[in-house]
Parts: sequence; structure tokens; C-alpha cells
Amino acid sequence: MHHLDYLPNYLYNIPSIKYQAITLRNFKTIPQVQKLTGEQIFAIEVVGSVLPFKTNNYIVEHLIDWENIPDDPIYILNFPQKGMLKPHHFNRMADLIHNRTTTSEEIRKAAHEIRMELNPNPDGQIERNRPFLNGKKLKGMQHKYRETVLFFPSQGQTCHAYCTFCFRWSQFLGIDELRFAMHEADVLQQYLSKHTEVTDVLFTGGDPLIMKANTLTTYLDAIIDGDLPHIRNIRIGTKALTYWPYRFLSDEDADTLMAAFRKVIRSGRHLALMAHFNHPREMQTDIAQKAIHRLRQVGVEIRCQSPLLAHINDDPEVWAQLWKDEVRLGCIPYYMFIARDTGAQHYFGVPLHLAWQIFRQAYQKVSGLARTVRGPAMSSDPGKIQILGLSNVRNQKVFTLRFLQARNPDWVGRPFFARFTKNALWLNDLKPAFGNPRFFFQSP
Ligand SMILES: *Cc1c(COP(=O)(O)O)cnc(C)c1O
Ligand code: SF4
Repeated sequence: MHHLDYLPNYLYNIPSIKYQAITLRNFKTIPQVQKLTGEQIFAIEVVGSVLPFKTNNYIVEHLIDWENIPDDPIYILNFPQKGMLKPHHFNRMADLIHNRTTTSEEIRKAAHEIRMELNPNPDGQIERNRPFLNGKKLKGMQHKYRETVLFFPSQGQTCHAYCTFCFRWSQFLGIDELRFAMHEADVLQQYLSKHTEVTDVLFTGGDPLIMKANTLTTYLDAIIDGDLPHIRNIRIGTKALTYWPYRFLSDEDADTLMAAFRKVIRSGRHLALMAHFNHPREMQTDIAQKAIHRLRQVGVEIRCQSPLLAHINDDPEVWAQLWKDEVRLGCIPYYMFIARDTGAQHYFGVPLHLAWQIFRQAYQKVSGLARTVRGPAMSSDPGKIQILGLSNVRNQKVFTLRFLQARNPDWVGRPFFARFTKNALWLNDLKPAFGNPRFFFQSP
């Protein structure tokens, strides 16, 4: 028998648990909902009719602190909050739901109209970054930065739960024209074989680890066995360590998944799980820690990223704790992002100057091992822009910024300046400093 080079699940002693989705349809049946007021339940119904709502039994039983409602960060991370809709949108939907004569068709129509007034596709990212193969546009890929191709396997377009702040809700709701999807692993292989400048493939979604291990293996094999020596790093963006850690332990195909990861590593490649932790609570469960252990034991590097979110983690103590815990568990802090406009920026957004203060204060509290984190950064149309800080230059208060990653590689690493604006939440709220008509990366 071939020897196993990962620890078998029974050593971790995690029982097999059946996944149960909790959505708008059934949330009122879970016992924990007793902790909510009638008004809170109604707000969930109203907001949940417009924005997607899904959580699950693991999150409800192990992550949310039901004694800390309504302030619990994981509760806010999963359960729709009244403030996520602007009052006129909330009231429109609330009136419809209150009115007993409203048909479900009328609710669907109003929800669609409200969604269209929100901003499901910031920056026109989807169209702009689609690559071509043999003159044909590829829907399931994005190739924006020279070294890295993003791949959206069509079976990975959902998640084990939905983050309330997430901007990918348009694809969960099946607004089809906005949906990335690609079935063919060989299209991926063909594209990569023509692009030897690419070193990294990043599987993303949704959450690619919602896929069956066998499906994922098909894609991974297309790379490993596809004569693509220039592909050195494979990354998988996932929130499964938080939202369904059984995925790595006791799920039926957890061992197959470990074997697939092992195979990538044996091919001489770096395999990184781009884990998404928004709050230190998410890695405090025994199950999550065992999942991290198992991945590390197989040789998977875990790098962690999260946006900075009002109501969830806008506190330097929380970030310092997050980074410290990540390092202790063998994970690598990677990015702190600025929350982009997800349709609820008025609720989750943190002004850029406060984001920088939070980053700086947290960064001061940790040792060099946690200072691998970069941020706060806006993942915007021209590239990933880091806020280096606030300074006074020529008697003007300015933001100093730089690209960590850019559409044009030559833009990376040049400091540039924007006028200080107190309420700026995003790049489009910033103006160049010193009377310049445009930023250096903008064409006239
Ligand atoms: C963030 C990102 C990447 C990866 O960037 P790294 O800095 O290498 O982590 C690749 N493509 C897109 C579109 C991204 O937003
Ligand atoms: S897990 Fe990721 S893709 Fe899924 S809802 Fe959360 S942020 Fe969005």
C-alpha cells in the first residue's frame, strides 16, 4: 500500500458533521433565534430579501456568541443588518413585506430594482480583465497582473456561508451576465501554455473549496500534468477554514483533498491557501486549529487576508490579536484590504485615514514575524494601492501611497501623493496633491 504522507483524520478525532445551510427560508427555526428581538428578525427578512443570506450549523453553533447580540462580530459577518440598506431601500422593502397582499413576484421585482441601484460590479473589473484565447473571450478567468492568473472554476461560485460585506453577491444571486464561469480545465491549460510570463494561478470564487475534491483535482492536474513548468505557485482563495473546517478533516472527501494538495507540492510547486480571517474568533475553535494543523502538516502554506470592516474588526487590538494568532498557528499575515464598495459601503466602510491609523497601531503591537502583512490596501482598477501614511509636505496635508501590484508593472513601488480628504473611503474620493491635474498612472 502506498504510504500516507498526511495524518489520517482519525488522529484528529473530529466527528463527521452534516452541513446544514441556514437561509432566509429556515433561519426562524433555529433555537438561537430566540435571542433576537422581533425587530431584528424583521430586519433580517427585509435585508435578506435584497442581499444574499446564508450561514450554517457550524457558524451558528461554534462561532457566534449569542450572548453578545447584536454586537457580535461573527453575527454581523453572517446575518443581514438593518444598516446595510440605505433607509429608503429598507423602507421600500419593509413596506412590501409588511403588507399582507404583496405577492412574492412583487418582492422579487423590488429586490432586483434595489440591487441594480447598488453596485455589484465595482470598477467594471469583470469585463476589463477578461483574457482572450484564440480570439475568444474567456469568462472564467481574469489576467490583470502579469504574473498571476485568476481562475474561477464554475463549480466554485458559492460559499459555505455568505459574508454580509461581500461584493460577489451578484454571482450568488445568479445575475447571469455578471457571472464568471468556465468548465474546461483544458482551456485553462491552453491559456497558461501560451503565457509563460505567468508564474501563479489563483483559484477563486465564491469559494473553490466548496467543490468536490475530485473536481478540484481535475483542475489541478491540468496544471501539474500540463507541461507548464513556468507555473510555480498555486493559490486557493478560501474561507472554508472559518466557515466549514470539516472540509479538511471529516468530510467524506477530506483525504482526497489532502492527497490533491500533496500532489501539487510533490510536483515541486508552492501551494498557498489564501485564507480569509476577518476576526480572531474564527481561528479559536479546536476544529479550525486542527484543520490548520493538518494543512500545515501536508505542506500547504496558509496566508491570511481580510478587509477592514466597520462593526466587525475596526479596532487595532482586534487586528493585532488576529496577526499574533495567525503567526502562532503557523499562518502568514498577508493583506489588510480597504473595504470596497459592495453596495453597503456606508455600513462597512472605514475612512482611509482611520484605516491607516488602525493598521499602524496594530502593526506597532506585533513582532516582525507578523509584519509580513501589507496594507491598508485598495484593490482598485489600476492596481493594489497601499496607504503608506499621512504626512505634511510643502505645508499640505497629504496621503502617501504606492502600488503593491499594478496593471502596469512599472507603476509598482513609486510613492505618490493625494490631498488629505477626511471622508475619503476609496481611490475615487482622492485628488492628486500639489495641484497636479491627475495621478501619474492616469493618462490625460
Ligand atoms: C490581488 C490580486 C492578485 C494577486 O496579487 P498578489 O499581490 O500577487 O497577491 C492577482 N490578480 C488580481 C486581479 C488581484 O486582485
Ligand atoms: S467567503 Fe469570500 S466569496 Fe464567499 S461570501 Fe465571504 S468574502 Fe465573499
